[in-house]
Amino acid sequence: MEDVAPYTEIDRLDLRMYSDEEIEKISVMQVTSEESINNMGHCCKGGLYDQRMGVMMRISTGVCETCHLNAEKCMGHCGHIDMPVPVYNPVFLTHLYKLLRIVCFGCGSIPANSMDVLQLQYQLKLLSEGYSHEALGVCQIVSEVREDEIQVDADGKETKATGAAVTMLMSLKAKLDAYYESVSARAADEGSRVYTSTVRSVRDECVKSFISSLKPRRFCPNCKYPSFSVIYRMSQMIVAPKATHAGKGKRDDAVVSGILDLDLSRQSVLTPLQARQLLREAWKSDSMTLSQIFPVLNNSPTKHPTDLFFISKLLVIPPKYRPLVRMGDLFLEHDSVVLLKNVLRLCRCMTF
Ligand SMILES: [Zn+2]
Ligand SMILES: [Zn+2]
Repeated sequence: MEDVAPYTEIDRLDLRMYSDEEIEKISVMQVTSEESINNMGHCCKGGLYDQRMGVMMRISTGVCETCHLNAEKCMGHCGHIDMPVPVYNPVFLTHLYKLLRIVCFGCGSIPANSMDVLQLQYQLKLLSEGYSHEALGVCQIVSEVREDEIQVDADGKETKATGAAVTMLMSLKAKLDAYYESVSARAADEGSRVYTSTVRSVRDECVKSFISSLKPRRFCPNCKYPSFSVIYRMSQMIVAPKATHAGKGKRDDAVVSGILDLDLSRQSVLTPLQARQLLREAWKSDSMTLSQIFPVLNNSPTKHPTDLFFISKLLVIPPKYRPLVRMGDLFLEHDSVVLLKNVLRLCRCMTF
């Protein structure tokens, strides 16, 4: 038998955010106090150096209140801060902004053309297997089917074939399936591809082109709710009804109640709580398209994957990874502690 050391081959690595439930399980305590060290140099209960999260060398001589080990042996334990209201997760702010601009505020759907959705679906399927050139070939097939859809009448005027939408979609799906099969068959001879930076940039381009294909509409084709424009300004999402709502473009059959209680006549601030509610509805309504555009939503263990765009519980890493420096009687806190104290201060202000 060949003498080969056992090894594990990693073929995929996915990163995701902790859900609130996971943070609660990991956390040993809730940090509530802005006071971290008192005048006597002791760690305050409920503060950012609470000894339930571990003890720091040269600062404390005691043992960790969670694992009862000393500073050398205790690895540290995480705590958490409960936010009184959810806030936008800065990591995903750009994604969130893109998403809010394309989602319908009435029904949560993404008003996209079915052919564009199908095109993106097959492009991403090929790209996930490493086929960047072949993914671009999908556009050619879609445009050929689109050309067939347009009929030229006796006056030379272009019209769409009547009642053909469903047939066209089915024919496109069959063509794309056959194309995918032919690429897969070739893969058996050539060997599997890998995900490279080229594949990544083609993927970004495909998603970008899909988003730009979503034409601005005055009303959602599904629920007839008016469209809103979204602007990110001064850390706030501002939503404003599109100018065309008034007068000429006004539709009597437009529904008046959307997912959110928004004033349809003027601009207003979209709070993180409202945005979270809207995206939860969007996930219910069109999870397939959303998970294709934002693959990060695929691996979420929670009922509402879009909640990762918001923070309602903030994980606090153990004190030994944000150490306190003692200079005589003076304590110098780590930069991250200064920021966490600002968060605690804001939380206190908001709960008053
Ligand atoms: Zn410990
Ligand atoms: Zn709608």
